[in-house]
Amino acid sequence: MSNITYFIADLHLAEDRPDITACFLSFLKKDAPKAQALYILGDLFEYWIGDDDDSPLVNQIAQNLKILSQTGTAIYFIQGNRDFLLGKRYAQRCGMTLLPDVTTIDLYGEKTVIMHGDTLCTRDVDYQAFRKKSRSWWWQAMIKSLPLFIRRKIAQNYRKKSAQSTAMKSQDIMDVTPDEVIQCLKKHQSKLLIHGHTHRPATHELTVNGEPAKRIVLGDWYEQGSILYVSNDSITLENMPFSR
Ligand code: MN
Repeated sequence: MSNITYFIADLHLAEDRPDITACFLSFLKKDAPKAQALYILGDLFEYWIGDDDDSPLVNQIAQNLKILSQTGTAIYFIQGNRDFLLGKRYAQRCGMTLLPDVTTIDLYGEKTVIMHGDTLCTRDVDYQAFRKKSRSWWWQAMIKSLPLFIRRKIAQNYRKKSAQSTAMKSQDIMDVTPDEVIQCLKKHQSKLLIHGHTHRPATHELTVNGEPAKRIVLGDWYEQGSILYVSNDSITLENMPFSR
């Protein structure tokens, strides 16, 4: 194991995408053990119906993450907008630590803000309203009280609706609000922000309080894997082909 930290997000694992699952399992076996830490910044799963889900996919991912954690790679997870119901119980099964929505970490001496990224998209008013509601205790208590098969149905409907409404929204509504990024970095007195969610992998150079700063956006795993490697002297965002 070397002094290197990996960041991933937006895998959107689902039963109907075995190619993504295969790529992720291969990554967990061959690559991730080299990292001292693996940060999963949300939307590991396409949807999450509760920690009591007993589907084969959910079990398989837990087993393989657990093996990674036991071989010495620390795993951290921040909830995404798809898997925001993923809780302590499942995190424990995976051997991973749940982190708050917005977390600052010391990344080889650099104070770094990490998050899923959906909270930066403030121009998507409909989504922010849903987010507020779905994070309330009463909404979560209501959902969790439903039987698994009903929750699975709701998630499937939500997936369809979400695909339709995303197709109708304009490009900038779906991206981060630039001023929100600056405010966030100022608030946390940081010069480096790492997030996913927008599926627009890039490194953006910024100026915050007259100083250079960076926003790194992780890529999704729809067509290939996307991994950010950070060591004390380098930051690289790389793709990993599905078949290796
Ligand atoms: Mn997302």
